[in-house]
Amino acid sequence: MTPTLLSFDRDLRLSDRELFAAIEPGTKIVPLLILDHRRSERLARNPRRAAYFCAAVAALDAELRSRGSQLLVRRAPLDVTIRSVARATGARVVAWSKRYDPAGAREDLRLQAIVEELGLRALSAHEALAVDPERIANDNEDGGFRSFNAFYRLWRAPEHLRAPIDAAAHFLPSVLPSEPLPHPEEFGASRATSSVGERVARLECERFVDDRLVEYARAMRTPSLPTSGLGVPLSFGLLSGREVVRSVCKRLEDPFLLAEERAGIERFLRAMARRDFLLFAGSESASQPEERLFARGSREFASVLEARTGFPLVDAGMRELVTTGSMHPAVRAVVASFCCFDLGLDWRVGMEAWERLLTEDEPALAIGNWRWSAGLRVDMHFPRIIDPQRQFLRGDPQARYVRRWIPELALLSDARQLHAWHERQLALDLFEIERYPRPMLDHRERAIAFLARYAEGRAAMPPVGALRSNR
Ligand SMILES: Cc1cc2nc3c(=O)[nH]c(=O)nc-3n(C[C@H](O)[C@H](O)[C@H](O)COP(=O)(O)OP(=O)(O)OC[C@H]3O[C@@H](n4cnc5c(N)ncnc54)[C@H](O)[C@@H]3O)c2cc1C
Repeated sequence: MTPTLLSFDRDLRLSDRELFAAIEPGTKIVPLLILDHRRSERLARNPRRAAYFCAAVAALDAELRSRGSQLLVRRAPLDVTIRSVARATGARVVAWSKRYDPAGAREDLRLQAIVEELGLRALSAHEALAVDPERIANDNEDGGFRSFNAFYRLWRAPEHLRAPIDAAAHFLPSVLPSEPLPHPEEFGASRATSSVGERVARLECERFVDDRLVEYARAMRTPSLPTSGLGVPLSFGLLSGREVVRSVCKRLEDPFLLAEERAGIERFLRAMARRDFLLFAGSESASQPEERLFARGSREFASVLEARTGFPLVDAGMRELVTTGSMHPAVRAVVASFCCFDLGLDWRVGMEAWERLLTEDEPALAIGNWRWSAGLRVDMHFPRIIDPQRQFLRGDPQARYVRRWIPELALLSDARQLHAWHERQLALDLFEIERYPRPMLDHRERAIAFLARYAEGRAAMPPVGALRSNR
């Protein structure tokens, strides 16, 4: 039987792989990692992400070696590599996981064309999603999804949640010499990331489900509390969405759960459903006429990058991102709203800046969420502009999050104290106020100006249609 080439791009794991079930039983698999120009360039843009990727690849290789094989690494163009490796191994099938962002989807099409031109069979699967998107799309009467809620109703139906796939895979012992594994320095990263891999990710998931899942609803609203942190391993495919959702649903079987604990779990399932929604349907690349209302650049954006806007939640979020490679989800929404509406910037400006800092490597979620934050969604009748000061008072009343990330405000007792100072009601010398700037703009004024521009612009535009899958 001829072997199958399995090209690893996303989904750097060996457990719960749909492709293993799709490959003819008994077939030997050649595990291949192609570091072509596109992949290397993307990694070089974000050293932290590159270090994580290298560690995940090393863990994958170690897992393969424990099964008597090893990763075959090639630093060459896609077409050249597929041709030479297929010729050398006699492979007749090339398999890979589907990607969801517009650039990734184009790469998938290119790979398919290369494979078919060589007379080989192309085999790809939705490995990242918790549900089978084709089945959901078939069960949806509209054929497309007007809103996340419509998608969620189908996603949550028991018949759509898939169990993890337990299919055996047989890897070919290394038949060809491999190039060295990717190393962080190759992409400008100075140090390696440790404790990465599918085993580690599974442990992280178990720990979250056992210890913190029931508190998720509170953590979601409270920037000083951690959320699951599973976004990074999910984005590299070290964990499968199916596996995460299954272990979370199992927790719901506990008859002694309190109502608020149940609500926390349901909230987490909604977050996982949103992931599927945006991966499958939400990273539409078609531009909307509203995008014309936003500017492609502004000098004011430098203050966001320097985390000195004078809006504590915005600045704390940016400092968290720079220091850790992540930002609390509730704060992401505030910073994104600030960039799009207070500064009037096109969503791509903020997204591209974050792409150089975030460890998560999920461009479809970046695109979907930034567009969502900018109000470019089909179920949206008006943009949702977030007031960063009000959000600070509401989400971080004791200023725990802000004090953690902004040392100039270390002596702040609570959010109200700074709010009062901003409102010029109190003159405080309790903290190093001169070192922390006053708000760089008047949020209310900017929000009103944007809405006026928006209402005027929308009046001249056609109504928006239903969101459809780009797959
Ligand atoms: C403006 C903006 C930009 C974002 N950019 C990215 C990005 O580049 N990459 C990325 O992976 N996520 C992005 N998100 C989504 C979300 O904020 C992160 O997935 C989450 O913060 C990761 O932390 P966590 O794993 O602790 O998430 P948790 O809150 O614990 O959520 C669990 C999982 O659910 C999924 N999820 C949660 N919220 C969302 C959401 N809004 N959309 C889609 N899936 C979600 C993620 O896979 C996440 O890991 C963005 C959100 C916003 C508002």
